[in-house]
Amino acid sequence: AAQAQAAFRAVILGAPGSGKGTVSNRIAKLFGVCHISTGDRLRYHIAKQTDLGKQVKEYLDSGKLVPDDAMMKFVSQEIKLSKGQNWLLDGFPRTVPQAEMLDSVHPPSLVINLTVPDAVILERVKNRWIHVPSGRVYNIGFSDPKVPGKDDVTGEPLTKRRDDQPEIVQRRLHEYEEKTRPVIDYYDERGLLKDFAGVSTDELWPQIQKCLHALI
Ligand code: ATP
Repeated sequence: AAQAQAAFRAVILGAPGSGKGTVSNRIAKLFGVCHISTGDRLRYHIAKQTDLGKQVKEYLDSGKLVPDDAMMKFVSQEIKLSKGQNWLLDGFPRTVPQAEMLDSVHPPSLVINLTVPDAVILERVKNRWIHVPSGRVYNIGFSDPKVPGKDDVTGEPLTKRRDDQPEIVQRRLHEYEEKTRPVIDYYDERGLLKDFAGVSTDELWPQIQKCLHALI
């Protein structure tokens, strides 16, 4: 069946805290595509203190975008590692030059854009705890871990993202408006954009699922 399907090469866009990660995990599970989250992978490199991790730490901590050349190099490697599997890119491209680079190597066939009100984003980010090795995310009051402060699968401790402090979230939202908004327009002009708006992932998910079933 997998061979009969057309290649699924998708990008998911949305402001920080818009639920890209949650939606991406659901898509990956349901459709068996390889989920490449640049934020998760970069945080993993930082935790492991690799060369790349050391190079990008300051950017992530302060809520600034990592320079394009470093990101492009990293993402093209990640795509190569996925060995022709179907993929869903989460967190890339975030600038027009990144989108152009992606087009030159692996043009996406679909771009999912999530729109969620800023107030919802700020509240979510405040309550967010993560498990760095796996990228699993918990939201206090919405998706609590079974044991407070511990990952459900491994029992390892959960941590706060440094860039989830309110001032840094503001900076990330600003970066998003300035640098990533043009990427939305870029894909819209090419007829690839599918927009989904709402206040919760559970509200967006049925619409997204319907759209994907029609395409896959
Ligand atoms: P959320 O995870 O809440 O949806 P987000 O989209 O801001 O929010 P990540 O995708 O996890 O968060 O990215 C976190 C940080 O990683 C960014 O603020 C940036 O520093 C860096 N980063 C990730 N992807 C890119 C990219 N494509 N270009 C530049 N920097 C990136």
